[in-house]
Amino acid sequence: MAAVQHFDIIVIGTGAGGGTLAHRLAPSGKRILLLERGGYVPREKDNWSTKAVNLEGKYNTKEVWRDAEGRELHPHTNYWVGGNTKFYGAALFRLRREDFWEIKHWGGLSPAWPISYEDLEPYYSQAEHLYQVHGRREEDPTDPPASAPYPHPPISHEPRIQQLSDDFARLGLKPFHVPLGVMLDERNPRASRCIRCATCDGHPCLVYAKADAQVLCVDPALEHSNVTLLTRAYVSRLETSPSGRDVQRVIVEREGATGAYSADIIVVSAGAINSAALLLRSANDKHPQGLANGSDVVGRHYMGHVNSVLMALSKCPNPTVFQKTLALNDFYFGSKEWEFPMGHISFVGKLDGDTLKAGAPAIAPGWTLELMARHSLDFWLTSEDLPDPSNRVTLDRAGNIVLSYQPNNEEGHGRLTEKLKNLMKQQTKCRVHGHECHEGLFARSLYLGQRIPLAGVAHQNGTIRFGRDPKTSALDANCKAHEVDNLYVVDASFFASSGAVNPALTVMANALRVGDRLLERLK
Ligand SMILES: Cc1cc2nc3c(=O)[nH]c(=O)nc-3n(C[C@H](O)[C@H](O)[C@H](O)COP(=O)(O)OP(=O)(O)OC[C@H]3O[C@@H](n4cnc5c(N)ncnc54)[C@H](O)[C@@H]3O)c2cc1C
Ligand code: SF4
Repeated sequence: MAAVQHFDIIVIGTGAGGGTLAHRLAPSGKRILLLERGGYVPREKDNWSTKAVNLEGKYNTKEVWRDAEGRELHPHTNYWVGGNTKFYGAALFRLRREDFWEIKHWGGLSPAWPISYEDLEPYYSQAEHLYQVHGRREEDPTDPPASAPYPHPPISHEPRIQQLSDDFARLGLKPFHVPLGVMLDERNPRASRCIRCATCDGHPCLVYAKADAQVLCVDPALEHSNVTLLTRAYVSRLETSPSGRDVQRVIVEREGATGAYSADIIVVSAGAINSAALLLRSANDKHPQGLANGSDVVGRHYMGHVNSVLMALSKCPNPTVFQKTLALNDFYFGSKEWEFPMGHISFVGKLDGDTLKAGAPAIAPGWTLELMARHSLDFWLTSEDLPDPSNRVTLDRAGNIVLSYQPNNEEGHGRLTEKLKNLMKQQTKCRVHGHECHEGLFARSLYLGQRIPLAGVAHQNGTIRFGRDPKTSALDANCKAHEVDNLYVVDASFFASSGAVNPALTVMANALRVGDRLLERLK
């Protein structure tokens, strides 16, 4: 092995956590090394092909994991510069203020975080600016207080979605515009970077108009001469000093060779599943259960949300191009009839026939997949899953990832689904088909639901939880490992509970917060 090159900071992974952290640290002049196992997503027409992306899984990792029974798992996750933000839907939500507290759910307790909403609030505002979020405050009744307005106005609804929003409002609900990180300027379409296309959610943006970690953080960070990025650099192991108190060497597999790097500070941000796997793989005499894992929590408490995609079909077509603009949080904390949290209702990007072929939903009688896709409203329902220690990442004998997960806290999700069904029955009569347009179809069970399978690890979090007590957490409140003085984790692993809104903005805001702590430490 060649001589070990030394840096001030090494960041492993360039997604929502690592990419955002790099952006915060870059102007400091500190020597920073970014290690990313993927390359840059190639810019090509397939970026926007639903067949290539959804049916053929062109950009997904080909890595094979196993489930608890040893069956093969083909994870829907992406290893590229920018991580999963290259593919995300860019719905950039703050957690609710209450999500930071202990909350009683039907299935048990969602634990409190070691920091409060107020601790993270300034960083949420900064992250919303960095990721150019478009939204409107105070439409959503569950929105936490914010110290700054959104930097950009909300993305407008297309007519079918506006009609649904009006219907929800007529029923006394508070529909709102999803806060979105797309660089769309509706007032000046000719100059707008984003062209409002149908292939955003799940796809890389061919014109670099999605607010992702590569475009907005990693590439700008690399303009600083003190920042170096190594792509296709897979970190296989972290080695400690003999005392076990410091990471001394980061072992990297690259271009068929093994190399090592060192730094004063090591930040792991490989995504909640890979980061846990890396710490477990780095077990040694001083850390026999895995690095920083005296508490035995590393890999445990895996959460990924209880998610469903639900298609509501109607006789009238749904010509919407960019569908992900509307959401409802009226049932987030419960309802008059049900005192427990239920979750969040929003949309996925408009489904098409190729995407449906990949998910193979039951075909409604008298419909084809193409026809269903043209006539559906495609909802995304998210409820909170609870941190169960037996839901966990482990390694098999060959060091491959094993993901064991039993869904929990599902009753609220079922009730949320029922709520949506009832709401959809109360939509305005359509001029052509009257109530038959919606209600009749529901009555004939043309309402199709699909729970996201285990391979859908998009919202993975919680596997290296932070907390105040080293017996029950691996990281302290600043995301530094309790047991290792120079090791931090800033991807979604640190979550103590998952809330029921999309996680990325919280990962980004926290990376900015930890970045400030690191800058103070390195002064
Ligand atoms: C299709 C899809 C849609 C989504 N939509 C939304 C949305 O609308 N809103 C939202 O909030 N969230 C969404 N998400 C989730 C969001 O993308 C993640 O929450 C977020 O990216 C997590 O950030 P992270 O830093 O934890 O991990 P990632 O962004 O996954 O970054 C981890 C990085 O580490 C690299 N890496 C992994 N292992 C190693 C290793 N051993 N060595 C070196 N590098 C390594 C990976 O290649 C990757 O670049 C979506 C995800 C997907 C897949
Ligand atoms: S052009 Fe706009 S809508 Fe299309 S993928 Fe890019 S950011 Fe998304």
